[in-house]
Amino acid sequence: MKFPRLEDVDVAGKTVLVRTDLNVPMQGGKVTNNNRIVRLLPTLNYLIKKKCRIVLLSHFDRPKGKFVPSMSLAPLVDALSEAMDGKEIQFGVDCIGPAASDAVAKLKPGEIVLLENLRFHAEEESGDAHFARELASLGDVFINDAFSASHRAHASITGLASFLPVAAGRLMEEELSSIYGIFSTAKKPITAIVGGSKVSTKLELLESLVGRVDNLVIGGAMANTFLLAQGHNVGKSLVEANMKATAKRVLEMAKKKNCNIVLPVDVVVGEPGLSGQGNACVSIEHIPHGMMVLDIGNATLRNIGVCLRESKTVIWNGPMGLFETRPFDVSTIMIAREISTLTAGGTIKSIAGGGDTVAALAIAGLGETFSYLSTAGGAFLEYLEGKTLPGITMLIEAKNGTGKIKVHA
Ligand code: ADP
Ligand code: MG
Repeated sequence: MKFPRLEDVDVAGKTVLVRTDLNVPMQGGKVTNNNRIVRLLPTLNYLIKKKCRIVLLSHFDRPKGKFVPSMSLAPLVDALSEAMDGKEIQFGVDCIGPAASDAVAKLKPGEIVLLENLRFHAEEESGDAHFARELASLGDVFINDAFSASHRAHASITGLASFLPVAAGRLMEEELSSIYGIFSTAKKPITAIVGGSKVSTKLELLESLVGRVDNLVIGGAMANTFLLAQGHNVGKSLVEANMKATAKRVLEMAKKKNCNIVLPVDVVVGEPGLSGQGNACVSIEHIPHGMMVLDIGNATLRNIGVCLRESKTVIWNGPMGLFETRPFDVSTIMIAREISTLTAGGTIKSIAGGGDTVAALAIAGLGETFSYLSTAGGAFLEYLEGKTLPGITMLIEAKNGTGKIKVHA
């Protein structure tokens, strides 16, 4: 794949806008996993060496176009500084307007400012050209280092590239080449494991994924929607009832494409709000009305183990349960262990992706043993599906230095 890299654009001494994904797992205002921050350092260090003024742009969570204090990027200042051996990081309380331009104007060569959550402005997600132009006015060059957000045609992903010379950052480069490298030479049988909670955004991806993999394991809250579609009661579980039809379509497509679907046959349930108490492993036929499905059960784990041991390639996005709360981390950790052992033994190649999935692996101390860890969840699945991601297209089609950069009104 051909696209401009850091070396292909003239950044020396310039003000460089770096789109990153600092949507990291956080609890009580503290970053609980800094993988995405650490992975950004090669790009930042390159730009510091080139004496750039660095402007970091990112989203956090889904504030839906409003200022939401709990979704501020302010706590990321300390986390970034810590990852950079105490380097001072400035903060701009808005990503556009005087607050942003003043913060950028104060930067000296080699200094970094982090601007507030892009999604506090609805124009970010609608891909508004005026908003993109305002962002662009803050710098001279645009570096996209947010592979995990590049499946979205948002202003800071595709819009910025219309106004500024653009290149991929080091993390973007690594993600594209590593995932492509492993998946394009993947040996069959291929097993995909999909879980987590972003059901509506990921469910549709499964429809085409079933055409590319031999086994599809569905766990996490994602599985609840499938259980409901199969006519089971799921109590008070996190579920998207309006996605039942999509779940059914995935199952039909899997049959057509000869893809083996592995769904839970038993689950661990808990009381809403009473995490870790009153939990029990029950068959999917007997999920109590007042309870929530918070992990997959032992029999299901055994089925997944069989499937993994017969595979040559495993790709994984989305935890199998509410792993942040014990004991609902059990199946996620057990599966991580199995995949680690098989990878270390050389029988499989494994890729895991997703902010929370990578955090779960870190808790289990197992991330290092996977063949590759992607920082992306949804984008990772779409890339595997063979889809062209808008943020990648904009890199490939970049007309840097040819005078053909499109400028929208
Ligand atoms: P990733 O960040 O790896 O792409 P997601 O963001 O889609 O993954 O999902 C991760 C979240 O899903 C975690 O916070 C986890 O607690 C939650 N989760 C998984 N299974 C369940 C479940 N059965 N009920 C509620 N939440 C769940
Ligand atoms: Mg997540």
